[in-house]
Amino acid sequence: MSLDHKSLKNKSPSKTGEQDTNQASSTDEEDGSSVFSFVSRLQKDLEHKLGLGSDENLSKVLDEVSLDGFVNYIKNQNCKNIITLAGAGISTSAGIPDFRSPGTGLYDNLQKYNLPHPQAIFELDFFNENPKPFFVLAKELYPGSFKPTLSHYFIRMLHEKGLLLRHYTQNIDTLERVAGIPDEKLVEAHGSFYTGHCLHCRAEYELNWMKDRIFKDEIPTCEKCPGVVKPDIVFFGENLPDKFSNAIEEDFSQCDLLIILGSSLVVHPFASLVDMAPSHVPRLLINREKAGHRTGIMAMLGISGGLEFDKKGNTRDVAWLGDCDEGCLLLAEKLGWGSELKDLHKKEHQEIDKKEGKTTKVSSDTKSEDSK
Ligand SMILES: [Zn+2]
Repeated sequence: MSLDHKSLKNKSPSKTGEQDTNQASSTDEEDGSSVFSFVSRLQKDLEHKLGLGSDENLSKVLDEVSLDGFVNYIKNQNCKNIITLAGAGISTSAGIPDFRSPGTGLYDNLQKYNLPHPQAIFELDFFNENPKPFFVLAKELYPGSFKPTLSHYFIRMLHEKGLLLRHYTQNIDTLERVAGIPDEKLVEAHGSFYTGHCLHCRAEYELNWMKDRIFKDEIPTCEKCPGVVKPDIVFFGENLPDKFSNAIEEDFSQCDLLIILGSSLVVHPFASLVDMAPSHVPRLLINREKAGHRTGIMAMLGISGGLEFDKKGNTRDVAWLGDCDEGCLLLAEKLGWGSELKDLHKKEHQEIDKKEGKTTKVSSDTKSEDSK
């Protein structure tokens, strides 16, 4: 939308001053100044930490600060707007390597391309110079070669039960889409392979068009110009998609429960999302190790936010440590959704295999060992 700054500036806040001010600020918001709202939230948080602000809702909402506390909170229908934040940990059991960390073997395959450093593969400058290594990696990681995990189906279940406000993912593997989480519930913060654009003329291409070329070991080249078509994944130094900033603006004030799945919460601004939820909202981390908590001088200053499971007086944060799928299954079981989740997982995988003309073999992670 267009915003006429001039007319706003020229309007003097005389007799209808209050109205004018309101107008101006709401227009600002519509204009997408999420930076403004982010800063004001940080400010509010700081005031709260320093005991300056009037915090409207400090009452604790969990009856106990444990996984069971979360289960009761959900079971008692106290929350309807769950936000889930996910990282690579929800996809590792699908066989997708954590390709951002060197030493996974993936980068070793790329040595022949003489990358100046592993991350160069996700840098635009390098890509412009030599897009080949990226597409070799893309072929290995390409969506369609992997199946969603139990964790993905857990998120879909939250949606189907009317509890999911939005799922934010750092992953570019599109497994959320494959798992049936609808587009409007999904924010792919680091983009995805779902669409691509010509770097020269910005023409849009869809997943299968790119896939055909990438699997023929070709570099996808625009049909309208000689530009290279790059999948819409966010490279280092690129802005996050508009959908990301628009959605956080809309979502976090409504959020009544935050679940962080398989993310070490180190990549910003994604990692800062944990601080965007109102200060009474319970936050559950399901991850192999503790993450998102501030340590050292940051913690001493007490102004940096983060998850508070190790802090005195914590009433809302819980870390469940272990494998993401196990954590999701345990949570589902405690909620009475265990067999429903396992059935969904199995049924969906059979569908995918059928489409690919394979016979289903039950992998070890779907084999049921529980009889609850
Ligand atoms: Zn083009």
